[in-house]
Amino acid sequence: IIQLYTPLNWFGTYYRMIQSAFVDMESMFDLLTEEKEVKDDVNAGDLLFTEGRVDFQNVCFSYTAGKEILSEVSFTVMPGQTVALVGPSGSGKSTIIRLLFRFYDVQGGCILIDGQDISKVKQNSLRSYIGVVPQDTVLFNDNIRENIRYGRISASDQEVEEAAVAADIHHKILSFPDGYDTEVGERGLKLSGGEKQRVAIARTILKSPRIILLDEATSALDSQTECNIQASLAKVCANHTTLVVAHRLSTIIKADQILVLHDGRIAEQGRINIKEEM
Ligand code: ATP
Repeated sequence: IIQLYTPLNWFGTYYRMIQSAFVDMESMFDLLTEEKEVKDDVNAGDLLFTEGRVDFQNVCFSYTAGKEILSEVSFTVMPGQTVALVGPSGSGKSTIIRLLFRFYDVQGGCILIDGQDISKVKQNSLRSYIGVVPQDTVLFNDNIRENIRYGRISASDQEVEEAAVAADIHHKILSFPDGYDTEVGERGLKLSGGEKQRVAIARTILKSPRIILLDEATSALDSQTECNIQASLAKVCANHTTLVVAHRLSTIIKADQILVLHDGRIAEQGRINIKEEM
């Protein structure tokens, strides 16, 4: 048994390391089905993160030749601000987020973080500053504690629990049959959409990235769940530069800036001013 256990244990460790490297992208980028890969310049350096300003300057992009998905997209997200991306399905909202994570390189214009062109810095360095809360969170066949720890594998059990508290999922976990040891994923306990998203939020809290990319769930959630998620997201996003593909009116209202996309162009840009007394 011991002879078998040791290699299996090693395999488990490596498997976890590999998974953790990919965890941020998760289903949002459908990593395993994509072929394209961006390459670092031979002399690429690290991103020197200072305050978290994001600039898109005349960004043009197409997945396939001849079909432009983004045309001359320009906008600025000031440090710590939240930008809501809205617009019809297929207008290019998620593409903007994928490009900021540098899942693809732009074909025209450039994307800057704190004045540095992201195509000129090391991908690992860029991505270490960015956290992603995807629309559909993948849970691995492991217990809920390890599922949260994927956000930062060096995190202690106590840090995992603190992140779960902040993401408002701790009490739910304590109600599971084996608490934090409860197996989840395909072979374990099934979590609801809202609970899975809170796991993603807890992972992001553990990672504590400087920039947050959020793909808000389109599915309808009951108002209490919705409220809990909004509250935990507000904690993660406070004072962090945030880009959110927004489907909820409440998110749009709270954003510092709203970008309305239409056919890959910014059709409108502004914010909603609601008078205090309303
Ligand atoms: P939704 O609200 O439906 O998620 P969206 O505004 O986020 O839409 P994107 O996902 O950015 O839209 O897609 C913009 C366009 O790019 C769509 O026409 C889509 O079909 C196309 N597209 C997206 N991903 C790919 C891909 N990997 N290869 C080719 N075309 C793609």
